[in-house]
Amino acid sequence: MIDTHCHIDFEDFDNDRTEVIKRAKEKLDCVIVSGYSNSSNMKVLELSKDYENFIYPTFGFHPVSSQKSTEEDLKTAHENILNHQKEIVAIGEVGMDYFYVTDKALRKRQQEIFTGFLKLADECEMPIVMHVRDCEKKAVNIIGEYDNIPYFVFHCYGGSFKTAKRIMDMDNAYMSFSTMLCYSKQHQDLIEKIDLNYILTETDSPYLAMKKENRNEPANVVNAVYKIAEIKNIDVDTVDEITTENAYRIFSIKCATSI
Ligand SMILES: [Zn+2]
Repeated sequence: MIDTHCHIDFEDFDNDRTEVIKRAKEKLDCVIVSGYSNSSNMKVLELSKDYENFIYPTFGFHPVSSQKSTEEDLKTAHENILNHQKEIVAIGEVGMDYFYVTDKALRKRQQEIFTGFLKLADECEMPIVMHVRDCEKKAVNIIGEYDNIPYFVFHCYGGSFKTAKRIMDMDNAYMSFSTMLCYSKQHQDLIEKIDLNYILTETDSPYLAMKKENRNEPANVVNAVYKIAEIKNIDVDTVDEITTENAYRIFSIKCATSI
């Protein structure tokens, strides 16, 4: 099993990060930690060096914070991606958030920034992990123009099934589902209909815990895998195998425990 998206570099984990990673190691093949900002990207890289073959980094720029950023910040983000291309397994998380951002001009700015990262991913031929909220259809229209991006991941997908069908039709785009599955009827309905071959699992830790007041952690991804098996009425091993293989393929990694 893999947690394909979390933020264990956050200060929420400063007091017990070692234990959190130890618990993840007991249950999972590997963990992908997604950079959120320029400083987060550097922390994520450091973590991946401390836990080689278990923690894999992606470098990104979160859409909600990105709109407040300067051109200089963005330039740094692009440069860091180029300089660490060989160490990171994808670009992300980047994207667009229409839930938090309602202002028209700010939405436009988000899109410009997102497009900048798409162009970079296209040039570098790197997979991209996207945070897209309440604008999934628009994102599908935008990403369709980039032919050299090997894989697209919609992290914590919450769009319609109609858009999910378009994502599956692309054949190199995936939807990631979190532990939110355990309590969200909307996500449960989506899982029932989406083909396992386009599904990934994640926690988005420290967010989206089973109980909203709690802190989430990567080991909890097991709950998402079990829930998918229950909803689709297939055995846990099959869900584990297929979702893990999907992640290996997208991020070109072979985790230490499975070698
Ligand atoms: Zn995230």
